[in-house]
Amino acid sequence: MRSAFYILFFLVSSSLIGQINRCSSDEYRQSLKERGLYKESTMNPVQSLLNQDNYIIPVVVHVLYNNDDQNISNDRIYSQIETLNNDYNALNADLENVPSNFINVVGNVGLTFCLVQSDLNGNPFSGINRVFTNVNSFQGFSDDMKDSDQGGVDAWDTNNYLNIWVCNLSGNTLGFATMPGSVDQELDGVVIDYEYFGVNLNATNPYNLGRTATHEVGHFFNLEHTFYGSCNDLDGCDDTPEISSPTYGCPDITQESCQSINMTMNYMDYANDACMYMFTICQAEIMIDALLTLRPNLATNSGCDVSLSDLKQSNIEIYPNPVSDLLFIKTQNQMVLFFDIYGRNVLSKYFYNNSSVDVSSLRAGTYFVSINNQLYQFIKY
Ligand SMILES: [Zn+2]
Repeated sequence: MRSAFYILFFLVSSSLIGQINRCSSDEYRQSLKERGLYKESTMNPVQSLLNQDNYIIPVVVHVLYNNDDQNISNDRIYSQIETLNNDYNALNADLENVPSNFINVVGNVGLTFCLVQSDLNGNPFSGINRVFTNVNSFQGFSDDMKDSDQGGVDAWDTNNYLNIWVCNLSGNTLGFATMPGSVDQELDGVVIDYEYFGVNLNATNPYNLGRTATHEVGHFFNLEHTFYGSCNDLDGCDDTPEISSPTYGCPDITQESCQSINMTMNYMDYANDACMYMFTICQAEIMIDALLTLRPNLATNSGCDVSLSDLKQSNIEIYPNPVSDLLFIKTQNQMVLFFDIYGRNVLSKYFYNNSSVDVSSLRAGTYFVSINNQLYQFIKY
């Protein structure tokens, strides 16, 4: 009786899992080929002189909505940016769950994402482009959401912005992305279903912590799935072990395939949001390389550093100082970067509205905070 129950449970859960398409980037690539739109990457790598530890990526989020549910809140969008910034700077709290056999290959990408602060004409802008559409849902991996003639919204200059379209995707697809150079410019970017964008703790689905965007942005910066090529390991990274097939759910972390332990917690696999929490060193290198050679304008765009004299606050308060744990900064809609006395970027956080940041993990000493190109100093004890 009991085993019958488990078999039934297994069948039910398998069929549910089978319906979910965690990411349709591979199918999208196939669809581009069938539509004659796919381009083998022919971009000439640009020799970049940039040599930084952290790059700021300007983001514009297009929210395409047909009803109130699809018109997600600013807070959801902010929570997504924060998740990206944690995950791409190895600041995610669940990084501590990485098992000992993979700790040595954890990668810190060093990308900071920022909602652009000015529009294409240089006017102050929230970075969130809300557009009503008559289309209730867009096909899983079409490009209609990127085309205003099809009920979508046209991309902003894709050389200079990471465009993220948030809309209702049909076919249980959570999202998909374009790899560098694989499509015409106007199609370049990331698409995420509105239900899976940002942190939504009220959701009953296991994709509610913003990791769909973490995964798709990985593709945008040239990462393949860790299971690409199955046991032939075609993802371009030796530090991601071969894995025979995508991982669903939240598996035992000692699960094996292809004679090795599976790195099921890699962002580029398909596990639940709560069960993926690391990139590897090789993946971080691929992404920075893709940024500097294939998407160089993104690394130098000043869309997040524009001085908004109207909004700029002359008296930014930072307290307490000295500080041991929570540092409060009175500022709004600003990317705040923290540097140690050697000029190393040790922390980045987007401040929405007079929030605080936990600096307890920093060593004691003097630090600098860069807000809107002005430096402030505080002491950590
Ligand atoms: Zn994917």
